[in-house]
Amino acid sequence: MNRIGTGWDIHALAPGRDLVLGGVRIDSPKGCVGHSDGDALVHAVIDSLLGACGADDIGTLFPDTDPRYKGIDSTKLLSEVMGIVAQKGFRVVNIDTVVILQTPKLGPYKNAIRERMAAVMGLEAGQFNVKAKTAEKMLGEAGQGDAVICRSVCLLESV
Ligand code: MG
Repeated sequence: MNRIGTGWDIHALAPGRDLVLGGVRIDSPKGCVGHSDGDALVHAVIDSLLGACGADDIGTLFPDTDPRYKGIDSTKLLSEVMGIVAQKGFRVVNIDTVVILQTPKLGPYKNAIRERMAAVMGLEAGQFNVKAKTAEKMLGEAGQGDAVICRSVCLLESV
């Protein structure tokens, strides 16, 4: 049996914060504001995985009111979610993602993100794709450079 899932996340960007996307530190004057490390790409991927296996959502599993998750490396949460996927009897076929970020350009980081995400999830790099878009400098907070938006779609199959 195959199952599909979708995930979406947005984080505000502010000066003096680290920008971490897909577990990779991006050189940027602004970074994500969040209870965790604010890795919006990992959060979107997590929600797509949870959605596909019918296991609720990231906010329910890892509440931002829980001090255990303050400043946590989101890839640790992703590893935990891969355990849920396996426990439910599924494995990942592929994951496709979009990052909407006005600046900096993500092109130079895409391979590193693919490799890091694949390593965290125990996948081949070819099973994880990331596409980088800007918001044409006009559309909402992302276009103004004040937010990063990430989307993820994943396909699971029964083991
Ligand atoms: Mg988030």
